Amino acid sequence: MGSSEADNNVRPAEKSLDFIRTIIGEDLKANKNDGRVATRFPPEPNGYLHIGHAKSICLNFGIAAEYGGTCNLRYDDTNPTKEEVEYVESIQEDVHWLGFDWGDRRFFASDYFERLYQYAIELIRAGKAYVDSLSAEEIRAYRGTLTEPGKDSPYRGRSVEKNLDLFQRMREGEFPDGAHVLRARIDMQSPNLNMRDPTIYRIRHASHHRTGDTWCIYPMYDFTHGLSDAIEGITHSICTLEFEDHRPLYDWFLDNLDVPCHPRQIEFARLNLNYTVMSKRKLLELVADGIVRGWDDPRMPTICGLRRRGYTPESIRSFCDRIGVAKKENVIDVALLEHAIREDLNRRARRVMCVLRPLRLVIDNYSEPGVEELEAVNNPEDPTAGTRKIPFSRELYIEHEDFSEQPPPKYHRLAPGRTVRLRYSYLITCTGLVKNERGEVTEVHCSYHPDSLNPQAADVPKAKATVHWVSAPHAVGIEARLYERLFSVEDPGAQPEGKNWKAHINPDSLVVLPGCRCEPSLAAAKLGDLFQFERLGYFCMDPDSTPAAPVFNRTVTLKDAWARIQKAHQAPQPGR
Ligand code: ATP
Ligand code: MG
Repeated sequence: MGSSEADNNVRPAEKSLDFIRTIIGEDLKANKNDGRVATRFPPEPNGYLHIGHAKSICLNFGIAAEYGGTCNLRYDDTNPTKEEVEYVESIQEDVHWLGFDWGDRRFFASDYFERLYQYAIELIRAGKAYVDSLSAEEIRAYRGTLTEPGKDSPYRGRSVEKNLDLFQRMREGEFPDGAHVLRARIDMQSPNLNMRDPTIYRIRHASHHRTGDTWCIYPMYDFTHGLSDAIEGITHSICTLEFEDHRPLYDWFLDNLDVPCHPRQIEFARLNLNYTVMSKRKLLELVADGIVRGWDDPRMPTICGLRRRGYTPESIRSFCDRIGVAKKENVIDVALLEHAIREDLNRRARRVMCVLRPLRLVIDNYSEPGVEELEAVNNPEDPTAGTRKIPFSRELYIEHEDFSEQPPPKYHRLAPGRTVRLRYSYLITCTGLVKNERGEVTEVHCSYHPDSLNPQAADVPKAKATVHWVSAPHAVGIEARLYERLFSVEDPGAQPEGKNWKAHINPDSLVVLPGCRCEPSLAAAKLGDLFQFERLGYFCMDPDSTPAAPVFNRTVTLKDAWARIQKAHQAPQPGR
C-alpha cells in the first residue's frame, strides 16, 4: 500500500491524535515500512484477560483498523509451566467478544522455537552469546546493582565451538534445569541492567501446551518478543511502560541478527483502576484462594467477569476510547468505567419492575378478583422500544425500604396516611399496617384512587414520590446478586510489596437476595438480555440461572458517581 492510500485512512483531523497515532502518522508520511501498519496484541496465556488488556486490544486492533493495517493475535507462550490451553481459548473468546478479529493472523511464539534457536546459534557464531554455567544465584550476584557495575562471568570467554557444543547439548536434554543458560554477550558495565548479558535461553524440563516435550530449553521473553515481531513483519510494537528500559535490548537483538525488519517499540502507560487489582498473578490468587467464585466472578476486572456482570463490548470500547493513551502512569477512577456502561445501558436496556426486598401491600378498596392490564413504557430513551402490559391486582409487593412507619425528615415515600404514585399506575394512600411478633412490618394496607390514572383528574391527592411494585399473584421469583467494589481501599496494591492487599477485600462486595419478585415479563428473559430494574439499577441474567430459579446480576446502580464528579470539578477527560 502506498503512503497516499494510507493517508486516506488516517483518522479525521478533527479528532486529536494521541502520541502513538502521531508517530504512526509521521512514519506513514515518511513512507517507512512501505506505508504498512502492522500491530499485534501479544498476551501470555497464563491467565484470563482483564480490562487493562482491553485497553491494549482496543489500541492495537483499533490502530490497525484506522490505518488500513493488520493486527496479529500472538501468544507469547515461552513459559511452559504457567501456560494452559484454557487460557489460550479464553483469550480468543474475549478478543472476539470485544469486537475484534485477527482473521487468519493468529500466531504463537512457540511456532518460532526452531527459528529462535537458529537465531541464538547466529549470535553464538558471531561471538555475541555464550553458555554460562554459573548458578542463578551467582548470575544475580555478578550482575551488580543500579549503582555498581556487573562482573564478567568466568565462562564469558568460552570459545564459539564450546558454546555451540554446549548449547546443542542443552537442547538435547543432557543437563538438568539450571545447569547452564545461554546469555547475550553485551556489556556487564552497562548502566542499564537489562543490557548486562541478559539470559536468552534456559533449561526447563517441562511439557509445553503446544510443543509438548520437543523442547527442554525455552527462550526468554525479551529475546522472543522482538524476534517474533520481526518474523511477523510488525511495524509498531506497542507495549506498556515497564518495557521502556528493555527497548535498548529489543533493538540490540534486531540490530545484531539478520532479521526481515526492525519494528519500532513504543511504550504507553498501562491502565490502572482504583479499587482494583490488575495483575494476573493477583487475580489468579483471588481465584485460587476462593475469595471470588472464579475468573468470571462478576466482581473481577477480567473481561469474562465484566461480561458476566452485564458489561457490553460497546461500553468497554467506549471506556478505552475515553481514557486515551498517555506516556505517564496514571490511575483512572473506576466510576468512569461504570459511567460508560450506564450510558450504554440507558440507551439499550428494557425497563422492568422488580422488587428486591418485597413488602406485601393490600389495596382494600380494589374489588376482587379484578386484574387490570396497565401500559408501561419499555424504554423512554428509545421510542422504537414500545410498551408492554403489566398486571395490576389487589395484592402487590413494594420495596421494603419504600415504606416507613415513622418517616424521617425528607422521606417522601409511603408512610401511614401518606400518598404515593405506583409507577405506571394509581395513586395509593396508606391506611394501615400489620406487624409480626418481633414488631416488624409485614403488610401494608392502602386504598387506591380510581381516578388517578387520568392526568386531568381534579380530586386526587398529591404524591411526592413514585414507587415501583409488582402484582403479587403474577410475580416471578428471582435471585438477585448485588455487587460492590471488591476492595474497600482505593489502592489495594499500595502496601509494601503488595503484601497486605488481600486484607482490604470489601466484605459486602456480594449481597445475594434470593426472594425477589418481578413482573411476569421477566419470565421470558434470556442470557444476554439487558434490563433496567426501575429505580434499582441495570441487571442481566446470570448463567447460574435455571428455568425454575432465575438469577440476575446487578451490573451497576443508577447513581452516576462519574457524572457527579465531573460536574463538581468540571474535569477534563482523563488521560488526554
Ligand atoms: P499482568 O501484569 O496483568 O499480568 P501482563 O503484562 O503480564 O499483564 P500480558 O499477557 O503479557 O500480561 O499482556 C499482553 C499485552 O497487554 C501486553 O502488550 C501488555 O503490555 C498489555 N497489558 C497488560 N496489562 C495492561 C494494562 N493494565 N494496561 C494496558 N495494557 C496492558
Ligand atoms: Mg507480560
